Amino acid sequence: MTSLKTLSSYVLGRWHAPEGDTRTVVDPSTEEPLGELGTAGIDFGAVLDHARTIGGPALRSLGFGGRGKLLADLAGAIHGAREELLDLSMACAGTTRSDAKFDLDGATGTLAAYGQFAAELEGRGAFLPDGEGVQLGRTARFWGQHILVPRRGVAVHINAFNFPAWNMAEKMACSLLAGVPVIEKPGTATAMLAWRVAEVIVDSGVLPEGAFQFLCGSTGDLLDRMGPQDVLAFTGSSATGALLRGNANLVRHNVHVNVEADSLNAAVLAPDVDTDAEIYGQFLANIETDIRQKTGQKCTAVRRILVPEAMLDAVREDLVAGLGRIAIGDPREDGVRMGPLASADALRSVREGIAKLAEESEILTGGVDAIREKGFFVAPTLLLAPGDAEVVHELEVFGPVATLIPYSGDVETAIELVNRGGGGLVASLYSNDRAWTEAAVEGISPWHGRVWIGSDRVAGQALAPGMVLPASQHGGPGRAGGGSELGGLRGLEPYLQRTAVQGFQGLVAASFGA
Ligand code: NAP
Repeated sequence: MTSLKTLSSYVLGRWHAPEGDTRTVVDPSTEEPLGELGTAGIDFGAVLDHARTIGGPALRSLGFGGRGKLLADLAGAIHGAREELLDLSMACAGTTRSDAKFDLDGATGTLAAYGQFAAELEGRGAFLPDGEGVQLGRTARFWGQHILVPRRGVAVHINAFNFPAWNMAEKMACSLLAGVPVIEKPGTATAMLAWRVAEVIVDSGVLPEGAFQFLCGSTGDLLDRMGPQDVLAFTGSSATGALLRGNANLVRHNVHVNVEADSLNAAVLAPDVDTDAEIYGQFLANIETDIRQKTGQKCTAVRRILVPEAMLDAVREDLVAGLGRIAIGDPREDGVRMGPLASADALRSVREGIAKLAEESEILTGGVDAIREKGFFVAPTLLLAPGDAEVVHELEVFGPVATLIPYSGDVETAIELVNRGGGGLVASLYSNDRAWTEAAVEGISPWHGRVWIGSDRVAGQALAPGMVLPASQHGGPGRAGGGSELGGLRGLEPYLQRTAVQGFQGLVAASFGA
């Protein structure tokens, strides 16, 4: 039995230990308690002011190039603690070592990438020109130029439990580069890893005072105290996203809110792909990875797999065989390729979700049965939906669970079924038929933030659709939250105000032009 760690918050330039009521976090493989957290006793108004009055001015004084260097240094500091953090992730989040790297290297990689994107902003101080200037009046004397200026508030980042390091880092990268200080709140189940990363960040001394604060526990009345120059960026379930977006204070002040929520990501096998096609192997590998990796707790993981009726038997047989080979267990044991879910709540919710899907679909492998006496384990689960299935297009089961959906192979049918998800983060298409692919992309793009195209030409080279890359947008419409993150320098936009500056061309173009 190890001693319980106190997971403190970092506010107002010091560590604040939990007072009063606390919550306990456990090792999801053994259920052994690991730490206690809570934010009782924190003055959230003072936390916001600290960021606005000390962190914001300090960051803005550095200019875009200077802030880019901070990100590179932060990436280096976190990378320096990599081995310790990988071990901690296995203990407190139930990740395999490879899943832990996915989170942690994703975090440092995204910070480093934004450090590099900032190179093109070198020399930029208080604002960024946005596009070319434009003649507004009868002559060119009256001129207009859009500029992007850092908001004078603070960014509150409420993160999901599934990527404790990456989720915090990708939001921080964009906000800090834009010049806006951050308050980070991790998902509780895996907060221990985020807390340790926060310690590394603070100990590194890289960031100016007030630029980074960390809340380990509830946000109290923080949202009720946010103002018109602040930003709320949230990642989590659609239900929580809707609740936070509706906060009366945020609505009253039109606080900029970015929501990254859940998604019924679809993969579509086109009718031209048979088992001999090179891309077929990658299709199987990607699906298996999405179900196994992070025990399916990935917002971009595939939930619905559309397969032409003629290919159903082959796909079903191959996937069931592949999933059956996955060794499940405590990630610290040899050979384990899939760990537990992150918490008892997650296990309960996944079991309920599988049972709900199974009311209309057939379980081909996996299911709700307990795997071990202790720990939050569930088997990789594949279901087969009938043609008139509905729940599969409505319910996200946030675990190692996906459903096969047979279809005719017709592109219009595929588009209609994919879009029934109500708005997604990513949809993946597997085809070597250009016309089919073009029609599919056109049909599903309005409902998706990202479309991934697999073909024999990229088989073995394309990064998996579940990967979120700093240079590509992350986020999607509708149930996916309607938000947008990353995408290179586009990722800074939530933290910048766009202003049209109008006046004498000699002034506007010279002082504010590109
Ligand atoms: P969640 O229950 O919605 O929680 C998300 C975050 O919101 C957590 O930090 C949670 O804190 C916090 N929270 C909950 N209620 C709150 C309230 N009333 N006020 C302030 N904060 C509140 O989601 P989750 O279970 O952590 O994450 C899983 C979900 O996130 C899945 O649906 C998944 O699809 C989605 N997700 C989406 C993305 C994306 O980029 N689109 C990425 C990852 C995950 P506590 O943990 O302390 O309750």
